[in-house]
Amino acid sequence: MSTSQETPLEHSLDSLLRPKTWDDYIGQEKVKKNLDVLISAAKQRGQMPEHILLYGPAGLGKTTLAYIIGSILGVPIQTASGPMIERVGDIASLASTLENGGVLFIDEIHRLKKNIEESLYPIMESGTVSVMLGKGPAAQSVTFDLPPIVIIAATTQAGKLSTPLRTRFSGGTLKLAPYSDGEIAQILKRSAAVLETSPPDDEAVREIAKRSRNTPRIANYLLKRVRDYAQVHEKDISADIVKQALTERDIDAYGLTNEDRSVLETINTVFNGGPVGIKALATTLSEDPETIEEVYEPFLIQVGFLDRTPRGRSITKKGVSYLRSVR
Ligand code: ADP
Repeated sequence: MSTSQETPLEHSLDSLLRPKTWDDYIGQEKVKKNLDVLISAAKQRGQMPEHILLYGPAGLGKTTLAYIIGSILGVPIQTASGPMIERVGDIASLASTLENGGVLFIDEIHRLKKNIEESLYPIMESGTVSVMLGKGPAAQSVTFDLPPIVIIAATTQAGKLSTPLRTRFSGGTLKLAPYSDGEIAQILKRSAAVLETSPPDDEAVREIAKRSRNTPRIANYLLKRVRDYAQVHEKDISADIVKQALTERDIDAYGLTNEDRSVLETINTVFNGGPVGIKALATTLSEDPETIEEVYEPFLIQVGFLDRTPRGRSITKKGVSYLRSVR
């Protein structure tokens, strides 16, 4: 379900589907209300809002919020990803491209290197950045003023942020919650209209929503795959077509994939049901521990198939009966 192998066309479809206004941004009412007050107040004072931290699982709409905030403020946005920022100078140069100010969006901020994190503090507090010029005894620290920027950072793991960094998001930490089936259905109907596909009937929308893991990005991904399938088979999008299309892709009625099932199967058979530490599990599955923690685990816990305890991960009774039912 990764989007990393998508073609440029898929990316342009994704930017087409990305809501550009509050009205199109479905759900997350509390987050929207809080952001609206923060942004409107700052706008009335002719200032940038204070820095904001958005927290929640992947695909829930954090990047989309950053773009909407930029557009309400009427300022440009620069984006960066925590692990891609190599040097202090990278942040300074990103911020400097926002000549008259703007939004600096930093995704996956929990993966920022420690020295880069520390260099972010003066940027967040006083809008200045210090860089070392020269080498050895002649090296000098020079401080620059940056254009007025608001840093909007996103993380899937707020617990991994150090306290000094977390507390510098003085505009607040806003947590995004999973979407209800009804909200996902609204998102799917809007997306079908944007894609100009034949409108799926209510039952078909419900079947896609059920498999979406309550996540808009996954709902849109499934809709695009169902649309392809319906088109190739010259059919309208009905509940049956949804089931056929997604079963062919090994996505079951819970929205679980082969990868999710391998996680459960490995804990169940290799580790006798657990508990097993994340590193041992990752090695056995040849996966990155972060992928297990961020991609597979949250939903397996949400549906009650996996337990996370201080001693490690265990499969639940419900998880064992699920595996029996799909064997
Ligand atoms: P994140 O940054 O949290 O990983 P994104 O903001 O990239 O998630 O959202 C993924 C996609 O899901 C967006 O491109 C958009 O099409 C859709 N999406 C996310 N949130 C919403 C929402 N509240 N309403 C409608 N569509 C949404």
